[in-house]
Amino acid sequence: MTGPEAGTGHLETGPGELAADAVRRAAEQDRLEADSGRLVSPLADADERDIEGALRPKRLAELVGQARVREQLSLVLEGALRRGRAPDHVLLSGPPGLGKTTIAMIIAAELGAPLRITSGPAIERAGDLAAVLSTLSSGEVMFIDEIHRVARPAEEMLYLAMEDFRVDVMIGKGPGATAIPLEIAPFTLVGATTRAGLLPAPLRDRFGFTAHLDFYEPEELGIIIRRSAGLLGVELRDEGADEIAGRSRGTPRIANRLLRRVRDFAEVRGNGIITKDAARSALELYEVDESGLDRLDRAVLAALVRRFGGGPVGLSTLAVAVGEEAETVEVVAEPFLVRAGLMARTPRGRVATPAAWEHLGLVPPPDAGSQVRGQPEPDKLFG
Ligand code: ADP
Repeated sequence: MTGPEAGTGHLETGPGELAADAVRRAAEQDRLEADSGRLVSPLADADERDIEGALRPKRLAELVGQARVREQLSLVLEGALRRGRAPDHVLLSGPPGLGKTTIAMIIAAELGAPLRITSGPAIERAGDLAAVLSTLSSGEVMFIDEIHRVARPAEEMLYLAMEDFRVDVMIGKGPGATAIPLEIAPFTLVGATTRAGLLPAPLRDRFGFTAHLDFYEPEELGIIIRRSAGLLGVELRDEGADEIAGRSRGTPRIANRLLRRVRDFAEVRGNGIITKDAARSALELYEVDESGLDRLDRAVLAALVRRFGGGPVGLSTLAVAVGEEAETVEVVAEPFLVRAGLMARTPRGRVATPAAWEHLGLVPPPDAGSQVRGQPEPDKLFG
């Protein structure tokens, strides 16, 4: 008997598992939608993705930051080019907005290969995937964004495609069904995921190269902002760039978005030049503070500190205090508050760290954050 426990994958997909799979995919969709629409959301909607296209670095040398990933990737690509063969499949993991799609596009550009883009939620049935795979040309790069959201039956097809460049197309149903093997052209799969922990081991193991993207330092974001300003034709002072970089939550997508909002402000209220003052005034108006916290983030912190003495307090109680759904607080505000070291999740509830008190201009009580030090909880944000 083999099964997922034995690490061989989900070779049998029963109705129960399919239902669970559908629930998992729907829950993930809700999670993502809860965050959209905020100025400091790391996610982008379709319109924003169009605008972003113009700001994407096109080649590896233009990519800012992620030095290690850049170097490793350049070796993988260079080696493949010398051998004249498609490189190993590449898995990119990390939070949204850090450059996974950008890197996928760069991989195709560096290889001089065409790129096919799809995403996990678009692949609901094995047939959806077979349709794409069977039309790939030799050496093509196929990018699957949010690969952890590919439906199970298609995932099984992907294993075979990645390993043997072959898919089995099922003809007929029930006992009479037959699998017809179909050869596909050698291709390179680039998978991106914000939740590497959700990827089944057999899928993860089929990637020859895995890169994890980290949040960016403010200096790196400053470079990205200056580059984007150049592309947008906006005049930007260095201190203006620093001001935006510090509030961008380590995320290029947010940096580029804040830059566009500050540009609007500078054009309408000023002379179009982004100075330190223009950036400050604009971001104050948009309620993004010096640490990149927005109104909801600050409301959660203020409730935690002022109403509950720094906690521990349960998620639902905290959510009621700020007039939001528990899920909104958990998905939208908490991840960044935890990462910024302002809040901790402990088994007894949410706790404010001394930094949270200081952020609100208050003096932390002597025992502030003692719960945090006593019971650290592993970071479960990104799987
Ligand atoms: P992801 O796929 O991880 O969500 P994207 O690749 O779509 O992120 O990047 C979001 C935006 O941030 C794009 O406009 C891109 O130009 C910019 N960006 C991301 N990483 C970098 C980087 N290293 N250098 C310059 N710009 C970047």
